[in-house]
Amino acid sequence: MTNIYQETRKFAKEFIDPISSNLDKECRFAEEVFEELGKKGYFKLIIPKEMGGLGGGIREDVEVVRAIAESNPSVGLCYMMHNVALSYLLKYGNDTIKEKIVKDIVENNVFCALSGTEASSGVHMQNSSFTVDIEGNTATINGSKHMVTSGGFATWYMTIAPEKTGSDHIINWFVSKDTEGVSFEENGWNGVGMRANASVPMHYKDVKVDVSHAVDAAKVETKPLKVDTLYFLLGLTGVYSGLCTSLFEAAKEHAISRTYPDGRTLADVDIVSDHLAKIYCYSASAVSLAHEAVQAYENDSEDAFQKIISSRIVASENAIDSSKYAMRVGGGKAYNRVGQIERMMRDSYAGQVMAPSVDVLKQMLAGTFK
Ligand SMILES: Cc1cc2nc3c(=O)[nH]c(=O)nc-3n(C[C@H](O)[C@H](O)[C@H](O)COP(=O)(O)OP(=O)(O)OC[C@H]3O[C@@H](n4cnc5c(N)ncnc54)[C@H](O)[C@@H]3O)c2cc1C
Repeated sequence: MTNIYQETRKFAKEFIDPISSNLDKECRFAEEVFEELGKKGYFKLIIPKEMGGLGGGIREDVEVVRAIAESNPSVGLCYMMHNVALSYLLKYGNDTIKEKIVKDIVENNVFCALSGTEASSGVHMQNSSFTVDIEGNTATINGSKHMVTSGGFATWYMTIAPEKTGSDHIINWFVSKDTEGVSFEENGWNGVGMRANASVPMHYKDVKVDVSHAVDAAKVETKPLKVDTLYFLLGLTGVYSGLCTSLFEAAKEHAISRTYPDGRTLADVDIVSDHLAKIYCYSASAVSLAHEAVQAYENDSEDAFQKIISSRIVASENAIDSSKYAMRVGGGKAYNRVGQIERMMRDSYAGQVMAPSVDVLKQMLAGTFK
């Protein structure tokens, strides 16, 4: 799996770049890209080799997500959510549900999504108001989720809910979209940006699943950092560091190619080159901190959690700051929606509100200093 970032960039240039603008305009999920991702084996990236996968881990995940996000961050977001759910299943799932879903992914190229946020809970995803009534080996699930990325397109949904009604112990139930009682709100997504992510409301009405579909990290995990949190935080680092890079590339390309009657280019203007340098620094620092955070996790460093959180904060905020300067470099054309900079600016604003939001993460980070 050497050079997985380069390999994925090649993939993204071929399959995502040509349709990226239309995905945004049409506010539609990139079904054809997901079909190709499945065919090329990306859905089994983190599945162990002995289970038919590619045996990758968080390092490969971040590189793939970053490479995809450079072409379209919505596609990167949908892909990373698959690995959030899958990492949790692989690490904490019982053999029955693990084998069932892994088989489905390996043989049928299906993918997963995260069904967490409720309208009432917002960024505090663990405050679920779902009911789960258990009789024998059957659990009956009721409730509604608010914004589920890849909603209706993914097959398996890692659903945050109590272990049973009335309990405040929150676990994850793996539910297939084909289960009776599962429904999605069509046209439920009209985001300012990230318009290709189909983040729609998902409803569970008397949804019956076997109790083996319940996965509880608390039964297995001894460390405070659960694997889904790792993939969630670093996956979003991948999305927004990728976006930082493409903002730099787009601003640079515009500055170099925009010429004046006297033959000078926009890049020849001192203050513009200063903006470009600034955007480059935002991108390089976001990408470097992503690598640093992965390394710290792999080395089990004492400050790994701090680096993971800060990488997600830096990537999200740098994308917004980069977009401000890229819009300035892009001038009237960018404001008039010529090129990709304006779309990227809109995409950048999602990173700060996605759970756990940048504000919540800053509080968490500050809490580790005490
Ligand atoms: C593009 C996109 C994709 C998404 N995909 C998914 C998905 O796949 N699955 C899923 O489950 N959800 C998803 N979400 C939902 C997302 O994770 C957030 O939970 C949701 O956007 C926030 O909901 P809210 O507006 O109710 O936030 P609120 O909880 O109302 O928060 C509003 C603001 O207040 C701040 N705030 C609230 N409480 C605190 C606090 N204690 N400390 C500091 N700040 C606080 C937050 O930072 C936030 O900026 C997605 C959202 C977006 C934008």
